Amino acid sequence: MYQVFAIPAFSDNYLWALVTKDGNCAIVDPGDATPVIEFLQKHNYTLTDILLTHHHSDHIGGVDTLLNTYSNINVYGPSTSRFPMVTIPCKDNDEIVLPKLNIKLNVMEVPGHTLDHICYFDHDNIFSGDTLFSAGCGRLFEGTPEQMYNSLNRISELNENANVYCAHEYTSANIKFALTVNQNNQDLVNYNEVTKALIKDNKPTIPTLLSTELKINPFLRSNDQNIKQTISQKFNLILPISDLECFTYLRKWKDQF
Ligand SMILES: [Zn+2]
Repeated sequence: MYQVFAIPAFSDNYLWALVTKDGNCAIVDPGDATPVIEFLQKHNYTLTDILLTHHHSDHIGGVDTLLNTYSNINVYGPSTSRFPMVTIPCKDNDEIVLPKLNIKLNVMEVPGHTLDHICYFDHDNIFSGDTLFSAGCGRLFEGTPEQMYNSLNRISELNENANVYCAHEYTSANIKFALTVNQNNQDLVNYNEVTKALIKDNKPTIPTLLSTELKINPFLRSNDQNIKQTISQKFNLILPISDLECFTYLRKWKDQF
């Protein structure tokens, strides 16, 4: 059993803290050490583990300082050579155990945003890094649309009641795009109202639920006929188009949006 807390960083990142009752703590994607150290000191928590999803600096930038400040830290992350600081390399389908927290997590390789991006999940929670956002998905810096499409499909098959802890507060901008491509989606219209109220109160819109994302996130809904129609009009395509084609054009449109 653990609780998850958001540590806001930079302008719109969330670093996630997994904390057990006895005060041991794992941090997902510590892009900046300062807010993590402040969080640990304020609550008197002990840092035991660091979990990395991918190599972008806003996700790993604080690791060196944390390792210099605290001792005996396990660092989990992708198994490629870009992660010299990783002590426990993770591969697809691995089950990792954070010994001091007694937390078991599963690893999923989700190429797309980067080639070596991984997610961590258990029955209740998904730490999706920059792969799945609320109402959106990560940009394709390294992977192909097909890789990202397959990665998101695999995440969609997890427990739909799980919380999705993504790494950025991009929800508002993502909804704007989602409403453009899927304006007759009443769940999306409702979700827009709910998240607008949260943002107005300065509250995070994350975590979101996977079940919510399945209803509102166009990047998980590229089989939707209304979205396909919008895409075909925008890009002058003759219907029918495949789900993957729809996803590819959705991502292309969002990049220019
Ligand atoms: Zn990234």
